[in-house]
Amino acid sequence: MVLAALGAASIGQALDGAILLFLFSLSNTLQDWAMGRTRRAIEALGRLSPQEASVRRSGHEQRVPLNELRVGDTLILKPGERVPADAEVLLGRSSLDESAITGESVPVDKAPGAHLASGTVNLEGYLEARVLRPAGESTLARLIRMVESAQAAKSPVETLADRWESPYATAVLAATPLVFAALHYLGGLPADAAWYRAMTFMVVASPCAVVISTPAVMLSAMAAAARGGVLFKSAAALEALSRVRSVAFDKTGTLTTGRMELLDLEVPGGHEEQALALAAALEGRSEHPIARAITRAASERGLSPELALEDVQALPGRGITGLLAGEAVWAGNLRLAQERGAVLGADLEAAVKRLEVRGRTVVLLGQERRIIALLGVADAPRPQAGAALEALRRAGVTRLVMLTGDRPGPALEVARQVGVQEVRAGLLPEDKLAAVRALPRPVAVVGDGVNDAPALSAADLGIGMAQGTDVALESADVVLARNDLNKLAAAWRLSRAARRTVIFNLSFAFAIIAVVGTLSVLGQVPLPLGVIAHEGGTVFVVFMGLRLLLYRV
Ligand code: ADP
Ligand code: MG
Repeated sequence: MVLAALGAASIGQALDGAILLFLFSLSNTLQDWAMGRTRRAIEALGRLSPQEASVRRSGHEQRVPLNELRVGDTLILKPGERVPADAEVLLGRSSLDESAITGESVPVDKAPGAHLASGTVNLEGYLEARVLRPAGESTLARLIRMVESAQAAKSPVETLADRWESPYATAVLAATPLVFAALHYLGGLPADAAWYRAMTFMVVASPCAVVISTPAVMLSAMAAAARGGVLFKSAAALEALSRVRSVAFDKTGTLTTGRMELLDLEVPGGHEEQALALAAALEGRSEHPIARAITRAASERGLSPELALEDVQALPGRGITGLLAGEAVWAGNLRLAQERGAVLGADLEAAVKRLEVRGRTVVLLGQERRIIALLGVADAPRPQAGAALEALRRAGVTRLVMLTGDRPGPALEVARQVGVQEVRAGLLPEDKLAAVRALPRPVAVVGDGVNDAPALSAADLGIGMAQGTDVALESADVVLARNDLNKLAAAWRLSRAARRTVIFNLSFAFAIIAVVGTLSVLGQVPLPLGVIAHEGGTVFVVFMGLRLLLYRV
């Protein structure tokens, strides 16, 4: 642009050059403004939900905002949680995903005395750790930063555009003297006129509109989505959503609220309170929605589950185990009971059936091979879940599937209520992964749990619920910041609109270059008109993108 302005000035057309530079700056200002909109929309979300950490203060577990975390506090880290501050392990064993810090994806084992880095993720064990330094970034702060740097993770179209941008610009610069030479020496045009046409050609053919076409659309669409609570971590994720053909949903915490209630407690040997206290002691170290139901029920009955449990490990898709005075204690589903060698007997089996028929998820509490209690928990489907799925179906998603680690009984009950026809139950995390791989691609996975993380990363598009575990949020490409499934269909329509706009913009930008470029060589376009066509085209494609800011997600 500067070269063309100077070129115009050199033949006494300084005003044309000035107009050119003015329009060029204007379109750059518009681009900056669009990007600022994105950032502000996302920052506003960040203020909505301050992140908290669990600490043990004077013997009680409590949640404190990250900025109130003090050095020396005892952090409680349940499986699936992110380490909120640098800390030293006091109790427990686990392995941690340190890939966010080191880039190394192999989990690292940690035992008492080991150092935990802020931002790493606790995978399966329960840990307590002493805070060494004030809190690092919250998960949401990290998400915001990821979205802000979303430009770095470009969509395929953008990458393509980038690859050609520089060679193309070079080609235009190289062609300009050739155009001049051809017009002057072959066409017999006076040097002045030939030079003027060459300058006009250079302006018209330069790829501004082509380059800005896609980012202007993607950034605006991401900002509109963020305002509606759908955080895309990259433009590639937005593009992926527009193509999705199947969607796999997790059940607990995704299609259902995840606020489970303990509804039944059956203790064959009596001693209900003791059994509930033991269950709560184990589950107090888990992040699972079932665990929260059980600990809440225990504290409502005034039980304080302070038992000296050791070596507590979460078994995703199965339950949780630990050691109490040298004996294995565990809480989980039938699969876990079988693994522990527990035999139910006819009475208990009938009791489990009875509970499952009523839509309960049954948790078996056991010590070694003995079953101590049956606990029935359940939660309700999210109020909007049925409508959200219907909207997706109408939007053109052909396969909707529920994939759950829960048993068929409660799974089918939820499926019936939200209107999913295809249900796969009793899945371990690796089964979920396999099930996702078998669906028609591109496939999106919606999930919240530790058990969903592998499927979320493997899917063409991982969609995380904000209330979910940190691992799930980390593995996802999109986060539903308000846990609102209804936003999915709207975001899908937005992504389609974005794709259409990108295609339109690119065709438009290339058409201008082809038509006005040719006309300028033929001397049909005065420089100011060429500039207006070119910069006007650039501003026009930016505005086509900004239009998407008005989109309601
Ligand atoms: P979903 O796919 O529905 O989110 P999960 O894979 O998280 O379910 O869990 C599958 C099953 O494993 C649960 O239905 C439950 O029976 C058992 N389970 C998992 N974690 C726990 C826990 N902390 N306590 C008891 N049972 C658990
Ligand atoms: Mg879940």
